[in-house]
Amino acid sequence: MENRITDIGPPYYAQFFPPVIKKNYGKWKSHEIIEPGVLKYTSETGDVVYVVRVGTPRLATTDYIREVCEIADKYCDGYVRWTTRNNIEFHVTDEETLRALKEDLKSRKHPGGSYKFPIGGTGAGVTNIVHTQGWVHCHTPAIDASGIVKAVMDDLIDYFESMTLPAQVRIALACCLNMCGAVHCSDIAILGIHRKPPLIEDDRLEYVCEIPLVLASCPTGAIKPATVEIDGKKKKTVRVQESRCMFCGNCYTMCPAMPIADGEGDGVAILVGGKISNRVSAPKFSKLVIPYIPNEPPRWETTVKWVRKILETYAKHARKYERVGEWAERIGWERFFELCEIPFSSKTMDDYRLAYDTYRTSMHFRFTSHVDIK
Ligand code: SF4
Ligand code: SF4
Repeated sequence: MENRITDIGPPYYAQFFPPVIKKNYGKWKSHEIIEPGVLKYTSETGDVVYVVRVGTPRLATTDYIREVCEIADKYCDGYVRWTTRNNIEFHVTDEETLRALKEDLKSRKHPGGSYKFPIGGTGAGVTNIVHTQGWVHCHTPAIDASGIVKAVMDDLIDYFESMTLPAQVRIALACCLNMCGAVHCSDIAILGIHRKPPLIEDDRLEYVCEIPLVLASCPTGAIKPATVEIDGKKKKTVRVQESRCMFCGNCYTMCPAMPIADGEGDGVAILVGGKISNRVSAPKFSKLVIPYIPNEPPRWETTVKWVRKILETYAKHARKYERVGEWAERIGWERFFELCEIPFSSKTMDDYRLAYDTYRTSMHFRFTSHVDIK
């Protein structure tokens, strides 16, 4: 413990402000988006700052960060910041530097051809996808994160670089229903799900798991304590009542002897209609609309297709300023399923504790036609 430094917290944020931000802190009068990816802020002191926003893969090498720093050194006196959706923003104070910065950013590509710093992510478009660890680093995922995000953003890059939608569309991904991040409150959410109960490794469970914790981790009370005999020795373990299990994987999070991942069982669910802002309507949770799409690495074609289908149906039918959830609620969810041509299944109907409030307790509905489940 000698010379141990602790509890020092993060560095004070204001020491990293560009001089123009420091000078005008709390004095900003207005802002406008002058083109996709470029914002102009005007202060009551008359100062102006241009912000260029670029997409990033979030998961980045130190070489990539060094390149960001090199750009910041060249155009922004060494200052740069990341946004809450893991885009990067460069600040400049004159139009000539702005032009040079944009040209430089556009010219930088990875050896495979992908843009390193695509400019965009502002206004009524699709900005970066908030996502998780996936197969890169977590032990509980049902899907990958970086791979699906890359496939979806490749397909939607035009929407990142433009502002043609009725309102901004937030896409998020979480690789299991721990939902690290924003899938529960996003316009379109990609979520990893399992479809089979956990395996139970009886021979080691009592050594690596706290059994009461395992029992308490199950939202449906599907797990019971049990004793088994292995090689003449009694061992404490658990049993899962499979008809009660809905494959959440919580028990595996608590107990490494209950693995649940399965190549064929696991896949993607799509949720729609969440938002966190209070603008016009209150914040909303996203709702399940597609219960299962198989994992299709490396390009997840079916997931990509459905995300685009939902996005473009919304773009075609929603009113200006209307978020995906506001649009779906105005037209009615049955019409949402009809327009998006999403097959409706019983899996989409809530059956958990407070489910009653989600059923229709009214004679108000529209006659619609629906796509059959194959
Ligand atoms: S969402 Fe689940 S699998 Fe993904 S990083 Fe979080 S805990 Fe891990
Ligand atoms: S996967 Fe979820 S529902 Fe199934 S037994 Fe484990 S905790 Fe319970």
